Amino acid sequence: MSATLCSPDRTATVASYRCRVVEHSWVNQRYKYIRLEADAPIAGKTKPGQFYQLKCPTTETEQPFLLRPMSVYGAGPEDGRIEFLYNVTGVGTRAMASLPVDGHMEIVGPLGNTFTFSPDFRRILVVADPGGGARRGSGHHGAADPASRRSRRGHHRGDVGPYPR
Ligand SMILES: Cc1cc2nc3c(=O)[nH]c(=O)nc-3n(C[C@H](O)[C@H](O)[C@H](O)COP(=O)(O)OP(=O)(O)OC[C@H]3O[C@@H](n4cnc5c(N)ncnc54)[C@H](O)[C@@H]3O)c2cc1C
Repeated sequence: MSATLCSPDRTATVASYRCRVVEHSWVNQRYKYIRLEADAPIAGKTKPGQFYQLKCPTTETEQPFLLRPMSVYGAGPEDGRIEFLYNVTGVGTRAMASLPVDGHMEIVGPLGNTFTFSPDFRRILVVADPGGGARRGSGHHGAADPASRRSRRGHHRGDVGPYPR
C-alpha cells in the first residue's frame, strides 16, 4: 500500500486573483458558503487540502487588515470556480458575510500541501480537528472517494452537510 499523504506540488504558483461572488448563503446560524468565479483558471491548480488567503472587504463597522486563511471547500467544474465554507466569527468573516452576489474579493493562493489516495484503498479514516469544523471541507473534496470525484466530474468538493452547528 503506497500513498503520498502530503505531496507538495513544486510546479504550483501562488498568485492573487480577483473573484466575483456567484453564490453566497447561510448554511446554518454560524456558517456561510461562498462560491467565487476567479479571473483565471484556478480550479485545476487547486488541490484537496489547500487553502487561500482571502482579502475580506472593509465595511462601515469592520476594517479587517490582514488576509484571512480559508480552506478550499470545492473547486471546478468551471475553470475559475472555487468555494469556501466559513464560520462568521470575527472582524474579517463578519465583513466577508456582507459581500453581495456580484461583489468582488481578492484571494491569494493556492497555499499548503495536498494529499493523494490510492484507488486500491477500500476504507478511509478522516481525522478532523474538532476546533476547526469548516476545515473538514478541505479534506472532503478529495477524501470522499478514493478514485477522486474530480477525475470523474471535474469538480472536487465536500459533501454538503452535515454542517457544524
Ligand atoms: C490554514 C487555515 C485554514 C482555515 N480554514 C478555515 C475555513 O475553511 N473556514 C473557517 O471558518 N475558518 C478557517 N480558518 C480559520 C479562519 O482563518 C479564522 O477563523 C479567521 O481568520 C477569523 O477571522 P476573523 O477576522 O473573522 O476573526 P478575528 O477577528 O481575527 O478573530 C479570530 C478569533 O478570535 C476571536 N476574537 C476576536 N476578538 C476577540 C476578543 N476581543 N475576545 C475574545 N475573542 C476574540 C474571534 O471570535 C475569532 O474566533 C482557517 C485557518 C487556517 C490557519
